[in-house]
Amino acid sequence: MAQHRAQANGGMLVLRNEDLDSTRFRMGFVPAMIEDLRWFGFEWQEGPDCGGPFAPYNQSERMDVYRAALEKLRAGNFIYPCTCSRKDIRSAASAPHAEDDEVVYPGTCRQNRKSEIGNRKFALRFRVPDGETVSFVDGSCGEQRFVAGKDFGDFVVWRGDGVPAYQLACVADDAAMQITEVVRGADLLVSTARQILLYRALGLTPPAFFHCPLWRDESGVRLAKRHDALSLRALRARGETPESLRQNWI
Ligand SMILES: [Zn+2]
Repeated sequence: MAQHRAQANGGMLVLRNEDLDSTRFRMGFVPAMIEDLRWFGFEWQEGPDCGGPFAPYNQSERMDVYRAALEKLRAGNFIYPCTCSRKDIRSAASAPHAEDDEVVYPGTCRQNRKSEIGNRKFALRFRVPDGETVSFVDGSCGEQRFVAGKDFGDFVVWRGDGVPAYQLACVADDAAMQITEVVRGADLLVSTARQILLYRALGLTPPAFFHCPLWRDESGVRLAKRHDALSLRALRARGETPESLRQNWI
C-alpha cells in the first residue's frame, strides 16, 4: 500500500530498519528482511542497503537524533521520570484498557522529583493534556478523535534500559527524513494521536497519515513480525508467490 501510494504520487519509498529493540534484533536478520521485502516486490529508493540523503537508515545508528528530541522535550517540561514496573501500572490502573490494549497509565509518578528517585531505574514519560481531544483526518479511515487521559495515558518516550521508545524514535525519524505520508496498520491509530502530541511538543508539523486494514491469516491472527507464525519468509517457504499474496491484500 505504501509503495502504491508513493508511486501514484511521485514520491519516494523509504525503508527504515527499526532495530532499537536488542531483544528482537538479531544479527543476520536485516539481509534476510531486505531479501524478503524485495522478493515480495517492494522497491524503495532510500534504505539501509542503498543509502539516501537522510542516512543512516538503521535506528541503532541514529541515537543522536533521539537524544536531541528528548532534550527538547525535557527543556519544554513535557516529560517526567517514572519508576513504575508493568505490574505497578496494572494494579494501579482503574481505567479500562486503551484501544491498543495498553493500560492507561494512572499518572502515579507525575509529581516525581529527581531527588526521590535515588538510584532506581526509571523510564521517561510524556505528560498528556488530560481531557484534550486529539483529532486528525486519516487518509483511509477518515476523521479520528482520541481523548488524552482517557483513550490513552502518559506514554513512555525513553525506556528504563536507555532505549528510545517507538513513539519518540518514529516521530524524530519521520521529521528528520522529511516523510510526507506515513502508511501503516490500523492498529496504530491511537499511537498516531500520541505522536501528534509529540510533533506539537517538538515544534514539528506532522505528516499525513494513512492507516490500512490489517493483514490477517486464515484464523484471523494478525500478520506481524513480532510472531513468526506467518512471516513473509514462512509464507514463501510454504510456496506462496508474491502474486497470490497480493491478491488477498489489495
Ligand atoms: Zn510511574
